[in-house]
Amino acid sequence: MNLTVQEFIEEYKTQFQTMFAYSYEEGTTEQHYTALGIFIKNYLSRHWKETRESYIKEGAKQVYYFSMEFLPGRQLRNNAYNLGILDIIKEGLTELDLSFDSIAEAEADPALGNGGLGRLASCFMDSLASLSIPGNGNGIRYQYGLFRQKFVDGYQVEVPENWLRNRNVWETRNNKSTCLVRFGGNVWLEPNDKGYYEAKYENTLNVLAVPYDTPMVGYRNNKVNNLRLWSAEIPVEEEANYHTLDEIQPISEITQVLYPDDSNYEGQLLRLKQEYFMVSAGVQSIIRHFRKYNVPRKNIPDKIAIHINDTHPALAIPELMRILMDEEHLTWDQAWEITQKTCSYTNHTILREALEKWPIDMMKELLPRIYMIIEEINRRFVDYHLPLYGERITWQTAILQNGVVNMAHLAVIGSHSVNGVAKLHTDILMSDVLKDFFEIYPERFNNKTNGITQRRWVHLANPELTALIDEKIGEEWKRNPAELKVFKGFEQDEETLKQVAEIKLNNKKRLADYIEEVKGIQVNPRALFDVQIKRLHAYKRQHLNALHILHRYLEIKRNPDKEVVPRVFIFGAKAAPSYVYAKQIIKVINSIADLVNNDPDIGDKLKVVFFENYGVSLAEKIIPAADIGEQISLASMEASGTSNMKLMANGALTMATLDGANIEIKDFVGEDNIFIFGLTDKEVYELKANQSYQSKELYETNEQLRRVLDALKDGTIPGLNGEGSAIFDSLVHYNDEYFVLKDFESYVDAQNRADALYAKPMEWTRKSLLNIASSAPFSADYTIKRYADDIWKVKQYFTGDEGVQPLDEPLA
Ligand SMILES: *Cc1c(COP(=O)(O)O)cnc(C)c1O
Repeated sequence: MNLTVQEFIEEYKTQFQTMFAYSYEEGTTEQHYTALGIFIKNYLSRHWKETRESYIKEGAKQVYYFSMEFLPGRQLRNNAYNLGILDIIKEGLTELDLSFDSIAEAEADPALGNGGLGRLASCFMDSLASLSIPGNGNGIRYQYGLFRQKFVDGYQVEVPENWLRNRNVWETRNNKSTCLVRFGGNVWLEPNDKGYYEAKYENTLNVLAVPYDTPMVGYRNNKVNNLRLWSAEIPVEEEANYHTLDEIQPISEITQVLYPDDSNYEGQLLRLKQEYFMVSAGVQSIIRHFRKYNVPRKNIPDKIAIHINDTHPALAIPELMRILMDEEHLTWDQAWEITQKTCSYTNHTILREALEKWPIDMMKELLPRIYMIIEEINRRFVDYHLPLYGERITWQTAILQNGVVNMAHLAVIGSHSVNGVAKLHTDILMSDVLKDFFEIYPERFNNKTNGITQRRWVHLANPELTALIDEKIGEEWKRNPAELKVFKGFEQDEETLKQVAEIKLNNKKRLADYIEEVKGIQVNPRALFDVQIKRLHAYKRQHLNALHILHRYLEIKRNPDKEVVPRVFIFGAKAAPSYVYAKQIIKVINSIADLVNNDPDIGDKLKVVFFENYGVSLAEKIIPAADIGEQISLASMEASGTSNMKLMANGALTMATLDGANIEIKDFVGEDNIFIFGLTDKEVYELKANQSYQSKELYETNEQLRRVLDALKDGTIPGLNGEGSAIFDSLVHYNDEYFVLKDFESYVDAQNRADALYAKPMEWTRKSLLNIASSAPFSADYTIKRYADDIWKVKQYFTGDEGVQPLDEPLA
């Protein structure tokens, strides 16, 4: 069913008129967005239905990716592209005198995640569908996404993000598949005459879980998978018991807001409610769906894989146990074997404060049956391991410790696979964070380096570059990313290098226009665009970047006549609302921006731009224009990073510590084509172990560093209210937890090497091309293929010669 431009035009006009009872010529941009979205959704609905039916018919094993966060970004362009109708729609709209680009901008960007973890989940959804793998997302339909960030006098201010204000055209409310989730009350087990114990409940809070299904469209393969997001409502039969808004609150609040903490979740009752709500509804609907397969329950692991994205959905383990025992009446041993074979877990962090723990008392009260099951899992684990491994290892790996439920331990014990998200990260899990578990279950541990979807981050975000690659090496790389390496063959071709440089400049001009439009700052598109975009966190070290900017500023002031390579420093970052230090860093960078951008001595030599409200849509604008991607976390702290991959794929050179996936990027692109600096993870571990680091000594002995640090608090930077001093104190007086001062010199040195290279445009562009051509291994298609083969044991369901093809292993 190939759509023609004329057919599109006719159908679209009718569609618009049917929806709004006006002619399309009178429509607003929002109305056009809604009409176009509905048009596309109607267009894909047949594939959506057929994909679901074919999986059942084939008895396909399905993956359910459980994640508290998804960060899908806008979907209009992506869906039209993957369906292969983007160009037709664009052409049709142009004939109707409408602009596709402005219509696409009218879509709300659903911020149902904080950062990398949620974005990874969405890249995975795209790859699952594109690889024709039966894979579904399971999450929460938060009514309010992550807060909208505004700057007032340089301070972050949080505003509610009501992303559902206008109609969400992609979702389908599915009243047929609701389920009931129970909280609190009393639970006891009663023996019955059928030979099993029956779980009896009283005084529970019953919540109706309503699924909203969103299509996840595969790349030109007619496959449409499902992302199921749950919303909490009052059960219909209990409506009469509720009278006031206050009474409804305990239910409606469950899916109201996304927790805005990127890494450390405050131990809050509501958060635990959210986790169980999502998990219980998800597992119930999976088991219900499983019945359609008509196979014995012991075959559940042959038909279902449940993946736990970080520990937030780890209650899927006891919830599956509960359903198998209490509702399916299996024995403990039968249920446990099925559960372990079905579940797998990805760890995303080594930050101690981010390892999830819940007070036992809270868990007991909110989820009494689930707690009983966790207690029994723990008892059996301890009984079994104590004689084999002794006291120390057994108690350190137990789920219940000092009054808390350790969720990572629950996740490891209840899963058949535990993976980290980059080689270094997995090594650290095995040698440090989960070391004792590695001793007990070495076979469970494996690495799956993160990936990104090139479709969103290159094909769509950078159409000119994509067209150039198509022209040089053909289009095969879009279906088989490994082909991208053929582009390396052009590294000495001057013509191609000129084209790559010109495309980068065009992208930078577009971003420069946007900077002028939203920030009122004029930047020179020929300056080096230096980009750091990610959540604001001390371990990511945006303040190291800030110190370098200050250093440059002071140098220019001291040597006004010296020629410098002009730079534009670009930031995008939200700080958790309760994270005071991160917010102070935002304020300091904004104040440095005021200082630098308004100093007539500085001119084009230095500009600082801090965008408000960083998110997927902004990332799509910034990344194609980046010359340098800043990946400067303290070695060992960043599990993987994925903005590093997006940036390199768009030709940015990486400024990096040897952390997370930066190490693998270096290995693929070659050490001459990346700027590496700073401590290694081993050096960091050593400095921590022998406590030999004294940041104050560096302050006292390094004159260059002292000048920069003093500028934080001596009035050089205008408009501060102690924020500069707070950062100064943390770095100098509180011994610099993240070794910012320790890495400063080596960072400045690497930045100077970058300047020298940028002064030789052909050399720079050659390295840029090599980055683009080396980025294929970081395609999420490969990552997902490895999850599918090694962890989930699910197949690709091709119906012909379409979509992303079975892939050669590019990492070999
Ligand atoms: C890719 C991405 C991230 C992750 O960035 P890191 O640098 O890996 O932390 C966060 N937020 C958004 C919007 C992204 O697109």
